[in-house]
Amino acid sequence: MLIGIDLGTTNSAVAIWRDERSELVPNALGDLLTPSAVSIDRSGQVWTGAAALDRLATHPEETVTSFKRMMGTEASVRIGKRDYRAEELSALILSSLVDDAEQALGERPTAAVITVPAYFNEKQRRATRRAGEIAGLEVRRLINEPTAAALAYGLQDRDDREPFLVFDLGGGTFDVSIVEMFEGIVEVRASAGDNRLGGDDFNAAMVQLVEERLGEDAEAALEALPSERRNALMTLAAEKARRTLSDKAEAEFAVTIGDRRFSAAVAGEKFEEAAKWLIKRLRDPVIRSLRDTGINVKELSEVVLVGGATRMPVVRKALTRMFGRFPNHSVHPDHAVALGAAVQAGLLARDGGLDEIRITDVAPFTLGVDTADRDNFGVIHSGIFSPIIERNTPVPVSRMQYYSTMQDNQREVEFNVFQGEARDVKNNVKLGTVRIGVPPKPAGHIAIEIRFTYDTNGLLEIDVEVPETGLKKNLVIVDEEDGRSAKDIEQSRKAIEKLKVHPRDEAENVAAMTRAERCYEGFTGPARHMIGEWITEFQGALEKQDPRVIADARGRLLSALDELEANPPL
Ligand code: ADP
Ligand code: MG
Repeated sequence: MLIGIDLGTTNSAVAIWRDERSELVPNALGDLLTPSAVSIDRSGQVWTGAAALDRLATHPEETVTSFKRMMGTEASVRIGKRDYRAEELSALILSSLVDDAEQALGERPTAAVITVPAYFNEKQRRATRRAGEIAGLEVRRLINEPTAAALAYGLQDRDDREPFLVFDLGGGTFDVSIVEMFEGIVEVRASAGDNRLGGDDFNAAMVQLVEERLGEDAEAALEALPSERRNALMTLAAEKARRTLSDKAEAEFAVTIGDRRFSAAVAGEKFEEAAKWLIKRLRDPVIRSLRDTGINVKELSEVVLVGGATRMPVVRKALTRMFGRFPNHSVHPDHAVALGAAVQAGLLARDGGLDEIRITDVAPFTLGVDTADRDNFGVIHSGIFSPIIERNTPVPVSRMQYYSTMQDNQREVEFNVFQGEARDVKNNVKLGTVRIGVPPKPAGHIAIEIRFTYDTNGLLEIDVEVPETGLKKNLVIVDEEDGRSAKDIEQSRKAIEKLKVHPRDEAENVAAMTRAERCYEGFTGPARHMIGEWITEFQGALEKQDPRVIADARGRLLSALDELEANPPL
């Protein structure tokens, strides 16, 4: 079974295409959103989602959130005895989403369409794909989050051809896309964004605003805490206050340390003031996407809001100012991306009624090679970026460029392939190296043809040819710093399989609890009361999370139930 997954920085969601429509799949708790949080204790016990988020305040050193921000980097976080990379933590989230979906759907999903920010580079995309593989999923396609949102949106009938703008402000990433839909064709005309801007940053601004106003006692109490715990407490309090400000003019920022509670009132206006510099940063990507497409703000038919942080009034106001109109709200900002991923899943499964829709996408970054230039004084400057496929070019795309030799009798030409926008290649992301032999001739006498072909799966193929000799090379780029092999993925998968799920979810405990609850329903009077007490006791043991305590309690519960069922009270 194929599902659509919005693997968000803050929240993730699952949707499925069935009965000609896209539908969200609730998790085991019945929620449509699952926090992208993971908590692992010393014994390797794992919590994900809301359960992990609950542990953020009590066990900050064992709990991680926002790890999507590390996706595609070498960075890892230490939890207990082991370091975890973003893709491994994401794999844990994906596994729990799949487990929950299996429970809700009665069939285990084996394949998925996973969404990524439009602004993700190759490394980040590859890491996302690996996360799916580690979780045992066949990743059928990665699609850009705004493209997915557009798909969710596109199913409402439209027959104009005017472009619209998707504005997605989540917990950690900000994406702007200009999209056109016409006669079943979805075309992303441009994507821009900032993968370090989101609700998390507004939380930080809130903390900064309030910190000094909590008073000296609070300051001393906070100082005494380990920094992780302090940060977790402050972030949680900021998140709460900030959400309140979405509905009310004033909120209370409150932290409890030990048995003391410290609080300060925050006015919406004050928070808006403190968040001004973040609001300013929302403008750039919007302007860039408009400029890249040559589209005027007035030509946009609609501004579609995606992402939980667009609920903030300060963001709404800024949007209204920026676009001179009220944004469209017809797609639920929290659900659009997952719903769209399921539409794409439906497309892949060639479900009837959908095969008319085609999607075109754009290359999120410029792709090119490094070259050298000779200035008027004959001095060679190397390391200059030469773009071949410009950002926001619709994919699939194939582009060719000619280059020539720089030195007399040069025997070989080397091109380094880069992704990015900077003129100095040092500031771009290196994807690999291509070399080809050339016949010795005076400088500039030998031409080299390079063709870049980029497909919808983000695969870059490079063909190099020296027309003079007919020598050709077709090279698959080997990413030097990121050559994680199938073996590495297998290792990650094994390591993760060793980790345990929360005891509450372990089969034996679930079975014991189900049986006790059934008994409770079957009896009345004192017997029922007694069973109720046994259940409470067992729940207490589960919360202790000590396998031995749990095993003992489970044994006691089961033999008590055996006893009761064997000799029922008359
Ligand atoms: P992501 O795509 O990064 O997973 P989401 O789209 O789920 O993120 O958005 C998460 C962000 O939305 C968080 O920073 C959260 O604080 C913010 N958010 C959710 N609901 C509200 C609200 N009612 N008011 C303000 N911010 C909100
Ligand atoms: Mg999102």
